[in-house]
Amino acid sequence: MTTVLINGAWEVGENAGLPVFDPATEREICCVPSASEDQVRRAVEAAAAAQPAWAALEPWRRADALRAMAACLSQNRQELAELISAEVGKPLRKAGEDVDNAAVYLEYMAQWDRRIEGEIVPADNRDETILLTRVPVGVVAAITAWNYPLDLFIRKAAPALITGNTMVVKPTEVTPLATIRAIELISEQKCVPDGVLNLVTGGGAVGAQLCSHPLVNMITMTGHRDTGKRIMAGAATTLARVSLELGGSAPAIVWKDADLDLAADAIAFASFENSGQVCTSSERILVHRDVHDDFVERLIERANRLKVGSSRDDVDLGPLVNRVQFQKVSEAIDLARAQGGTLRCGGHGLPSLPASGYWVRPTVMTDVTPQMSIFNEETFGPIAPVIRIDSFEEAIRLANATRYGLSAFLFSNDYRLIMRAQNELRFGEIYVNRTMGEALQGFHNGHQESGIGGEDGKHGVLKYTQIRTVYHRYG
Ligand code: NAD
Repeated sequence: MTTVLINGAWEVGENAGLPVFDPATEREICCVPSASEDQVRRAVEAAAAAQPAWAALEPWRRADALRAMAACLSQNRQELAELISAEVGKPLRKAGEDVDNAAVYLEYMAQWDRRIEGEIVPADNRDETILLTRVPVGVVAAITAWNYPLDLFIRKAAPALITGNTMVVKPTEVTPLATIRAIELISEQKCVPDGVLNLVTGGGAVGAQLCSHPLVNMITMTGHRDTGKRIMAGAATTLARVSLELGGSAPAIVWKDADLDLAADAIAFASFENSGQVCTSSERILVHRDVHDDFVERLIERANRLKVGSSRDDVDLGPLVNRVQFQKVSEAIDLARAQGGTLRCGGHGLPSLPASGYWVRPTVMTDVTPQMSIFNEETFGPIAPVIRIDSFEEAIRLANATRYGLSAFLFSNDYRLIMRAQNELRFGEIYVNRTMGEALQGFHNGHQESGIGGEDGKHGVLKYTQIRTVYHRYG
């Protein structure tokens, strides 16, 4: 199995393979060989060698390359969706949406070809012009997480490539198959010149080697907070620029004047979509005492309505991605119950769920308090822990009681409270009266320990450039 792409040539990874499992059955789908140290080194060198010519291309030619990549993904939608569905466990319909989103993202980023502008600033000297131009960063190492594998790869590749950088991609070892196949298709169709997009496979050790290579100028990673911290510490040795999209523990405040049906729909989606394995998932539901019981009933009704099952069937949720994730989520539920939480619906190990596979039904827990572990750590599972609140001050204080800062939700129709929350919530992304789902032209970026920078919109694309100042003396 060739899973390493260096300067347009496919190679078999020289190190031992890592198995990829079907989370619905626990059966091994295949084993993906890991790249050796030498292969990682050569992949970075290939990217560095290809970078000047790629950067010298007219920007519209790079945009054409991105559009060709988008077409390539769309033409192979079914195959890629099946791979995503098999390795992540998500329903085929949702996996198809992932492919569509990746294609749209490439189309959007292609439009930046004529939009990256410089500046002219006043000079201190006569007969002098000072230009601030934007140039590529150089070689980008891209490291992805397993929940939206194809989209996370494209979120990094599109802004990196349009701005004239070249790349080495290391997909997550848990769900690498769709990314490997997408890069295979892109390379077969010659969407980009050899060396512009390189691929190495493997786990954290391969990622660490890649990040430490002195020719890597920027590291962009999506994953767990603790991995992000390790990457950042490592980057101190080369001073590579670091962009991190990390975890979260999003609060969702349901104020007493909220439209409870709207809030229940939005929070059910934000807590259970992709089996809760979304960085913006609502993980702490703070509900005003006056509407607590009413809201909880509505949330339970929606949770019970969701169909859980094999990815091929017409279901809403599949299994969790792997055994590690399943154990983490199951233990979080059990510990919350032991600490005084009440399981209102859902859970793991239910007779209605298949015996093999990593199944957890959408779970609603009440009587949750800020002292419980479930309140304090990212669970990344289909759990909605509900906490009763009495005042808006308490809601804001509890919402902010986390070192994470990715996203937050607020449901209210009180304009003054909404504006207060907008100012006082310490999160990079705030959804008011709606569920999660960021826009391409926004900026999905975490504050605090949820990361540094995002990949989308103007701020995402400019991050893949650096400023060069040129002093033109003509007197
Ligand atoms: P992870 O941190 O375990 O792995 C992410 C990637 O980092 C993998 O490719 C892994 O091989 C690599 N890696 C591990 N150690 C490394 C090292 N020392 N150096 C370089 N690379 C290394 O994360 P995961 O379990 O795959 O993903 C789940 C996490 O991702 C959750 O916390 C979730 O919130 C977060 N996430 C965040 C966003 C976002 O946009 N903020 C999006 C999706 C997922």
